[in-house]
Amino acid sequence: MRSPLQVKRFSFYACVLVVFLVLAGCSRGAPNSPDAGLKSFSADALMKHIRTLSSDQFQGRGPGSKGEELTVKYLEEQFRGIGLRPGNPDGTYVQKVPLVGILPDPRMQLTITGRGGRLYSQFQQHFVAFTKRVVEEAAIDAEMVFAGYGVQAPEFQWDDFKGMDVKGKVLVVLINDPPVEDEKIFGGKAMTYYGRWTYKFEKAAELGAAGCFIVHDTERAGYPWEVVRESWSGEQFDLATPDKNMGRAAIEGWITSDHAKVIFETAGKDFDALKKAAVSWDFKPVPLGLRAKLTIKNFLRPVDSRNVIAVLPGSDPKLKDEYVIYVAHWDHFGMRDEVVGSKIYHGAKDNASGTAALLELARAYKRLKTPPRRSILFLAVTAEEQGLLGSRYYAEHPLYPLAHTAAVINMDAINVLGRTSDIVMIGRGSSTLDEVVESVAREQGRAVRGDPEPEKGYFYRSDHFSFAKQGVPAFDPHEGIEYVGKPPDWGLGMRKRYTQEDYHKPSDVIKDYWDLSGAVQDCQLFFLVGYRVAEDPRMPEWKPGAEFKAKRESSLRQAGASH
Ligand SMILES: [Zn+2]
Repeated sequence: MRSPLQVKRFSFYACVLVVFLVLAGCSRGAPNSPDAGLKSFSADALMKHIRTLSSDQFQGRGPGSKGEELTVKYLEEQFRGIGLRPGNPDGTYVQKVPLVGILPDPRMQLTITGRGGRLYSQFQQHFVAFTKRVVEEAAIDAEMVFAGYGVQAPEFQWDDFKGMDVKGKVLVVLINDPPVEDEKIFGGKAMTYYGRWTYKFEKAAELGAAGCFIVHDTERAGYPWEVVRESWSGEQFDLATPDKNMGRAAIEGWITSDHAKVIFETAGKDFDALKKAAVSWDFKPVPLGLRAKLTIKNFLRPVDSRNVIAVLPGSDPKLKDEYVIYVAHWDHFGMRDEVVGSKIYHGAKDNASGTAALLELARAYKRLKTPPRRSILFLAVTAEEQGLLGSRYYAEHPLYPLAHTAAVINMDAINVLGRTSDIVMIGRGSSTLDEVVESVAREQGRAVRGDPEPEKGYFYRSDHFSFAKQGVPAFDPHEGIEYVGKPPDWGLGMRKRYTQEDYHKPSDVIKDYWDLSGAVQDCQLFFLVGYRVAEDPRMPEWKPGAEFKAKRESSLRQAGASH
């Protein structure tokens, strides 16, 4: 039974609520409606942005280049033109992101010596290597150890190192997480963070290894060697941290699986047999009896890059200090010198398309008669292609508290192939955003599906991950796979074709078969999902068992304590 005191308190709150609703109703006029925003999307408007951003003039939008100047200017002008306020409380549309560009001299020579002789490995053909240390020269001359998958996962009682001291050694590790049969271990077919290359390099550094090479595998990586070669052999950026990244291993890199076989032969070992042996709890690291010698000379340059941000203040005094973030990376790989002339990495799909969606979402929100209750941030981040650096910088130096950030919605390469009867939600099942996305999709007559390629670890591969790592619930939508009027396999076939032919290549340009009607449909979905999150007084939450739930709870506790 309710105590009288509770009844009294209840009726007091009821009165406050009534008064509030009346006032809210007065100040807003008609009930809030997202329709004006929904209607504003068009394929032409999206295409116009993509055409500009992926043009030769924008030079592939490399951080720190003339392409950055043009891109940042374009985004600022668009936000200003739309009528959105600068998102940085300092009154500007930019957040400065201090980066350092590290360009390894391609004349590097990896020499591997063992009983079976000496092996000279060719840069780019057999391996790529780099150092994230901000130094002019980094070198290794050390014993090589095969460390299986290079994973220590206490929750699965998995330890590839078994107490071996690998300090000062050069590790050779396999790509992805161990493909054990048990669905409950390492997410079954789905990739966990243990499968990401970032994890492997972080682990090598933590154990004090001198170097770490990951053996590439096209099937398991989901992308061919050319992608590794293109992504890792030019200038790479990192955040300019105070310790100059001296905590990282001296040298990091990749080798092809063919070359791994040759290296293991030189050691008198069978690569395929050891690869099999590594899929076991009993696996112990195997010293290869080889020495790897490599010196990398770097050209260093500081690069002042920028995130671009605009804000639409919320309409509810109680909720306007809480935020929903739409994020898209504006950067791509810029230009690379070739034997003849230079090539522009246009990045039309990746990610001129997502940036276009960001701008059109901003326009849609500005069309609303009344903004949603929470504030909306439109964040175009830099250096995603270099390891999610711009989003990581924002998440580590947020302009608005992350504990007050309700959710992040990421747009990285949107659908350019026409309407779909479904939408893919990466990381589905991990937060209450599932229900919001499902209800919006249902209204569109579409189905929501989980990742059709869970083995590729997409959740860890774009900017929302920088936020999720800090606890913010994230929606990472991908294009659907069932295209209206197309055979069932067509969508995945086209996706495969893009990955093989254009992903991270200069040929990622607007194609004559593009059809942005599906992009419009998806933008409407992104719009409504963000809108509903911004209207609902309850914040989205991670579901029990989700990887980032603990982080969110501690972040909310800290914010609560500081109030
Ligand atoms: Zn991208």
